[in-house]
Amino acid sequence: MPRSAPTPCRYPGCSAVLAVPGYCETHRSVIHRDYGQKRRGFDAEVGFYQSRDWRAVRAAHLTTHPLCVACEAAGRVVPAKVVDHVQPVKEGGARFDAANLQSLCVSCHNAKTARESARRRPIPR
Ligand SMILES: [Zn+2]
Ligand SMILES: [Zn+2]
Repeated sequence: MPRSAPTPCRYPGCSAVLAVPGYCETHRSVIHRDYGQKRRGFDAEVGFYQSRDWRAVRAAHLTTHPLCVACEAAGRVVPAKVVDHVQPVKEGGARFDAANLQSLCVSCHNAKTARESARRRPIPR
C-alpha cells in the first residue's frame, strides 16, 4: 500500500501537517466559508463597508477632505458625509487607495450612485 508523504495544510501560513494534501480541520471550514462569501458578493461588500479598516480610512479621509468635492467644483461649500470610491469597488476600484477616494455630501453621493446603477442596468424600454 503506497504511503503518501505528509503535506502541509494549503492555507497560507498554517503549519499543520496532513497525511492527505488539502486543508487541515480548521482551515477546511474557513475555506468553505470563503467560497460562500464569494457567492454572496453583496454580503461581502456590505461587510467591507462595516469593516474596521474601511471605517478608519473613511474617517481619515473626511478629516483631510472635509468638503464635498462635487459641490466644491460647482462653487458651493458643503460638508462631506460620505467617502466615495471614484471607481466603484464592485467595478474593480481600489478600496483603500487615496487616489480612488473622494469626499461627497449625501445628495451628490446619491446622484453618483444613481448614475452608476443606471449605467449597469439600462432602463428597460
Ligand atoms: Zn491549516
Ligand atoms: Zn455635494
